[in-house]
Amino acid sequence: MWLLLREGVLPEEVLPRLGEQARRAEVHLLGTRWAIALPVNGVAVETFAQWQEVERVISAEKGEFPLVRSWSASVELGTWRRGEAPLWIAGPCSVEERVSFLRLARELAAMGVQVLRGGAYKARTSPYSFQGLGAQALDWLAEAKSLTGLPLCVEILSETHLEAYVSAGIDMLQIGARNMDNYWLLTEAARTGKPLLLKRNPQATITEWLLAAEYALLAGAPWVLLCERGIRTFERSLRYTLDVGALPVLARSTALPRIADPSHAAGEALWVEPLGLAALAAGAEGLIVEVHPNPPSARSDAQQQLTLEQFSKLKVRGEALFEALKTSFQGASASHSSPT
Ligand code: PEP
Ligand code: MN
Repeated sequence: MWLLLREGVLPEEVLPRLGEQARRAEVHLLGTRWAIALPVNGVAVETFAQWQEVERVISAEKGEFPLVRSWSASVELGTWRRGEAPLWIAGPCSVEERVSFLRLARELAAMGVQVLRGGAYKARTSPYSFQGLGAQALDWLAEAKSLTGLPLCVEILSETHLEAYVSAGIDMLQIGARNMDNYWLLTEAARTGKPLLLKRNPQATITEWLLAAEYALLAGAPWVLLCERGIRTFERSLRYTLDVGALPVLARSTALPRIADPSHAAGEALWVEPLGLAALAAGAEGLIVEVHPNPPSARSDAQQQLTLEQFSKLKVRGEALFEALKTSFQGASASHSSPT
């Protein structure tokens, strides 16, 4: 368990009172507050929780982790104002061609999208599928950013690419579903000090996903945007099963922001809007959506990418829904408890 100390309280003020326990205590600075890790649970927890220096006792037994549980910093990402409007991250699965990509970026910016996405290095199931344009794509992403002012969110597959991503001005590093539990990559990406978009591995429980976020926060990520993108179940009608239930659970487990990716969950353009709206209704604070200038010609995920017109319809309806429900989500975010 962890004793999360109140702002301004030093571990030295508490350690002497721990008696025997102090020998086994480990001290960690979590953001601006100190936490004392102790290998005990049970009755002692009740006692320590009463101390005025202790803001909260965080118990691993209950599936709680100190950073994701106590995180309270603010979120800054382009023009997005958290709580006021949904976050829209949109763009193609992969960056494929300069002129059409720059035109799409301008159109998305004009529609009020706050963040541009676009794959540079792609994690494809088959080694024979298109693997992304790599460094060339990063150049065009940087060009799109200077043209539109939109921050960039791009998936990173390897720590060897970090330098290139930072030089290209990528604002948010996306850790894809396949890499959620690649703790080395997570840690190295977090060390850049940039926020991470952390997709849920389709095989991961919410607790495992939150522990991955804990790694990132521990390594210095200022914040982590949690993204539900569908889990693997027995159902095969859609590409994955979007776990909408995860969204209210996250709202109660952590103050970290949460969004959904209806595109990869759906696998087909037809299902992207209903899944996106369901996610917003369940408390997603935004959506990341694949939008392509001409989806049938896309070199990856052609079936699930939306046209600008389809995306525009989803955006209008999603905003109306968010507006209608927003006060209930603010309430949900305010009271955190364990996911178990
Ligand atoms: C993506 O967003 O480009 C992607 C590959 O998604 P996921 O990691 O969720 O499969
Ligand atoms: Mn894709």
